[in-house]
Amino acid sequence: MNFFNYRNGELCCEDVKVSAITGQTGTPVYVYSAKTLRRHYDVFRRAFVVTTPLICYSVKANSNIAVVSLFSSMGAGADIVSGGELFRAIRAGVRGERIVYSGVGKTTEEIRYALENKILMFNAESIEELDAIDSVAGSLGTIAPVSIRINPDIDPRTHPYISTGLRKNKFGIDIRHARDAYTEARARNNLRIVGLDMHIGSQLTDVSPIESALKRVLGLFTDLRHDGIDIQYIDIGGGLGIAYRDEQAAQPDGYAAAIERALKDFGGKLILEPGRVLVGNAGILVAKVLYRKQNGTRRFMIVDAGMNDLIRPSLYDAYHEIVPIIETRGRRFKQDVVGPICESGDFFAHRRDLPLLDRGQMIALMSAGAYGFSMSSNYNSRKRAAEVLVDGNNYYVIREREMDGDLTRGERIPPASNSGE
Ligand SMILES: *Cc1c(COP(=O)(O)O)cnc(C)c1O
Repeated sequence: MNFFNYRNGELCCEDVKVSAITGQTGTPVYVYSAKTLRRHYDVFRRAFVVTTPLICYSVKANSNIAVVSLFSSMGAGADIVSGGELFRAIRAGVRGERIVYSGVGKTTEEIRYALENKILMFNAESIEELDAIDSVAGSLGTIAPVSIRINPDIDPRTHPYISTGLRKNKFGIDIRHARDAYTEARARNNLRIVGLDMHIGSQLTDVSPIESALKRVLGLFTDLRHDGIDIQYIDIGGGLGIAYRDEQAAQPDGYAAAIERALKDFGGKLILEPGRVLVGNAGILVAKVLYRKQNGTRRFMIVDAGMNDLIRPSLYDAYHEIVPIIETRGRRFKQDVVGPICESGDFFAHRRDLPLLDRGQMIALMSAGAYGFSMSSNYNSRKRAAEVLVDGNNYYVIREREMDGDLTRGERIPPASNSGE
């Protein structure tokens, strides 16, 4: 559920007309609903009735510090995957003790930065990484809290690019070698083993792969007990999907019930890393129609947002609902909604049934709150969009549209050389 609705034929976010926002910011612009974000967090948190998990919002889904801070003020921690995300989490007011750090390629500098900020734990993804964390911790004279990310070899039945828990994926340590990895970790002087971690993929619409993975992880938990390794945390990762179209997406209550059932014998603390489920349906991308044209039988609607602003359709063939900002009842035509970028992959929809809009009219790409702005780029030297957060009848520009100077910041033309002999 979200707070984007038509009122008197005009799309509103909560109590604000989208056209009022674009009048100030221009397009393309991302618009997020604070009420929706809060509601999603609340529903997710309340779904857990037996346990009180630590909910570490996955910063990469939507990294704006206003969004991270909103969740943080509701009690969330942060799941980060880079030093840059750690910087954002700290800027947003998340305390180190509520931050978990995932990712296969942490650099020594990032590990040091995280240790200095006393994060809750590293989710280590290889033995070599454990060595690196051990050695950085040693050099700082501290002990690093680590979990090991397990690759349970479970098919999450999602898009291959966002499937992460199969043996052929780069993530985690093969569950068949996990016990040895823990034994290795225990032998390091500057590591403290605190948990067990998994994250099998994203946009999961069915909880059964999570249940299967949990079963394997719990088997490992028992083995580790035998080995005298006691674990305080089980981190289940994120991955719960949302409805972009008509998917029957699993709901937080079913997800939570399955997890609590599976973990009933685990006395420790549960950690969750939701991203998309909290922010996906809380945001839209608004774009303006630039031109219409017809090539052969195809009708094109060319808009001022491109794949650099929202890459999901190009990258995953993802579906985003498209609606006009002003409700239109005219005849509908199959249209390709495309951006200005010089790539045929720059599209938002193919042969979508939409009314014919005039130049200057606006559309909203729905469910764009997750992996939208955070995956955007400057390709084609396009300035990244503005971001706006609506709360009731107020709205705030939480990121200004980039300016020309942002595009060349840090670039330099070397002095003319004389080597052109
Ligand atoms: C991306 C990611 C998440 C969040 O995934 P969602 O599908 O957005 O919930 C959580 N944990 C890890 C380790 C991730 O890489």
